[in-house]
Amino acid sequence: MPCHDSEKAHLRAPRPAVYAAGEYNFRVTVELDALDAALARALAGGGRVVALTGAGVSAESGIPTFRGPEGFWTVGSAVYHPEEMATQAAFRAMPDEVWRWYLYRLGMCRHAQPNAAHLALVDVDRALGERFLLVTQNVDGLHLRAGSPRERTYQIHGNVDFMRCAGAHDRELVAMPALPQVDDAPLSDEVRRLLVCPRCGERARPHVLWFDEYYDEELYRFESSLRAAAGCAVLVTIGTSGATNLPSQMVMAARRGGGLLIDINPDEGPFAEAALGGGGLWLAGPATEKVPIVGQAIARAVAAGAR
Ligand SMILES: [Zn+2]
Repeated sequence: MPCHDSEKAHLRAPRPAVYAAGEYNFRVTVELDALDAALARALAGGGRVVALTGAGVSAESGIPTFRGPEGFWTVGSAVYHPEEMATQAAFRAMPDEVWRWYLYRLGMCRHAQPNAAHLALVDVDRALGERFLLVTQNVDGLHLRAGSPRERTYQIHGNVDFMRCAGAHDRELVAMPALPQVDDAPLSDEVRRLLVCPRCGERARPHVLWFDEYYDEELYRFESSLRAAAGCAVLVTIGTSGATNLPSQMVMAARRGGGLLIDINPDEGPFAEAALGGGGLWLAGPATEKVPIVGQAIARAVAAGAR
């Protein structure tokens, strides 16, 4: 549903990251009014809200993206890029090293705490219940730790808190066992013995979608995520660059289905452009600041619609 161009012009944030105090307050006021109006229109029909989160949300909890230099991994004299380590091929060739890399990442994720964006999405879930769905590209499990319910949190790239059999039982998620180490030390025999399928004793693998694998429904909720986006009243994209395939398809599907697009991102990317181009909103800023604002506006719109 198109919103007025004047609203859009105000919401298109100026490039500089620093605002004069008065200018900033003015912008926040305009954002709130525009948000409330757009959400009231979009949610009047009773449709669903889908939120899609990406690395920007985790980064504010101190978790690096692992796609950049932080993800590089040295084995002997060779340096591997994340796109080489996070593959079935690497796991087949050097399973211990791939596990070591994941245990290092798992340690970082476990030290991180959910932030205000994670918590605000829990509040939205509590306010909306079945009318809300959270889809995340993040594998750190922070949404679940914050309190988002597993049945309404689709982890489309997996979750490092789980592993799966690398053999016959690869459809079954197994919680990561308590390990004596989650750092970058070489795998001990004890750890190696714990990283196995409880059913058959075969080596286990991390429950993450690797670069040389495809999305699927059973493990990663591929079709369900696309279907939810296609039929939603509102799609909020948060801290995601639009670089990966499924998120881009979700945004296109939501737009085709007439859903209101709201993008939260400090930088203007393809999703901000898609939102602005389709009469939606781009809130330029960090997730920890903007998600609580959008979450409360969604709860207000739903409560007003129910009266
Ligand atoms: Zn097995």
